Amino acid sequence: MPLILRIDVDKPYGSSGLTRRIISKLSENAWFPSLEILGYDRTSRRFARFLHQESIPAIFFFRLCTLPSQTGIREYLKMGHVIGLHAENTRSEATFLKEVAHFQHRSGLNRVTCFSKHGSGVHKLGRRHYAPYEENKYREWDQKHGIRFPFGNGMISSENYTHEEFFKEVFWMHPSYRDTKTFTVEWAMEQARQKTLAVLVHPENYYTVPQVKQDFDRLIAESKQQNIPWMVQLP
Ligand SMILES: [Zn+2]
Repeated sequence: MPLILRIDVDKPYGSSGLTRRIISKLSENAWFPSLEILGYDRTSRRFARFLHQESIPAIFFFRLCTLPSQTGIREYLKMGHVIGLHAENTRSEATFLKEVAHFQHRSGLNRVTCFSKHGSGVHKLGRRHYAPYEENKYREWDQKHGIRFPFGNGMISSENYTHEEFFKEVFWMHPSYRDTKTFTVEWAMEQARQKTLAVLVHPENYYTVPQVKQDFDRLIAESKQQNIPWMVQLP
């Protein structure tokens, strides 16, 4: 069975080095122009190219403050990646649809096909962010508007995770969200041999958190060795 890769792009300027961290925060909380020359979208695009070299397509979810330029978007699509919205203002259906329309307009995409939700559900992260995590509401919007909400924000906590049409729980690469003793790369591979497993990684973490890089690189190597494909088709 395949692996499916969800990528949430949280940081406009990545998070390596103090200056980039400050500019990222400014863009999230106040305003800062999207300047590629200063590193806007650089981390995410670097990660997209890396995946492409490894022949791994992924679903990239962008916030409005991390959305690439239209030229950038075309490059992601050319590499076989899928683009979705990393939703922030989910206070109501109206605020959500406004964000979708904004995203569509700026990205130049004909339509937004899928979304994921930003944040843990507790802290407000950014000026547009509505913190609560309300999964049922998002699944209703999925049905009503045909914008898929394929992944929940839960961390896989048992082997009986559901995966039929909705990945309620995903395999977070970041060690802070995962019981790394139980849910190892070996465990993930064992699951992927039997059913589809959804994996979540944040590009900035791949480049700044050693364990994320180490585990993700191993996951890629193992998937190749065991002939487990990576897919972007949603169930
Ligand atoms: Zn996020």
